[in-house]
Amino acid sequence: MVFPRHCIECNRWLVSHEVWQLGCSLCEQQWPDLRGEVGEKLMKERCDLDRMWTGFRLRDNVTLEHQIRALKYHGDRQLGLLWGRWVANVSKVPKPSMAPIGLVPVPLHWRRRWNRGFNQADWIAKGAAMEWNVPVYWRALFRPDHSRSHTGFSRKKRSDSSASAYQLGASPPPQGTKIILVDDVMTTGATLRACTSVLEAADCEVLGALTLALA
Ligand SMILES: [Zn+2]
Repeated sequence: MVFPRHCIECNRWLVSHEVWQLGCSLCEQQWPDLRGEVGEKLMKERCDLDRMWTGFRLRDNVTLEHQIRALKYHGDRQLGLLWGRWVANVSKVPKPSMAPIGLVPVPLHWRRRWNRGFNQADWIAKGAAMEWNVPVYWRALFRPDHSRSHTGFSRKKRSDSSASAYQLGASPPPQGTKIILVDDVMTTGATLRACTSVLEAADCEVLGALTLALA
């Protein structure tokens, strides 16, 4: 069992029926838990995909903000895995009888990834994949380095190139796979929309998205 034995908020020991939780029942009740239909509805307002999953709303919750920080900037991979499982554990994924499902983490720019040593979306995807028993396509998308090529370009060209922040990566999922994009935080939905259009241009079908939190 990889789940932590203490509540992340009050540090109380978790009891046996709380084994799939990150916080104790009392603390989780206070969280803006968005797993299920409410979260899906809020996500669809920002990016209209068939199926959406999210964990919680980031605003006004210090504990959860700290969790995201620990995950993003302190390299806590295990935390990504746990939270990925937490989001996926409650919600369902469509039955694979229709078509295979595959998870695609939103990539980080390589330089940022190099500095951090990991991509938090990879670890959230890993956690969700454990719960749903589906594969993760780690290099389906790629984030090219636009900053270098900007030198000497006109403003017009620069804005054109930043429009395509993502590209199809070295190993996209096989044809027919229904893709679920995975990211840490959904803000405007622009990232998910950009990734969707890159994948759809390559004849991949994007079924939906899973994020840990909603900003
Ligand atoms: Zn607690």
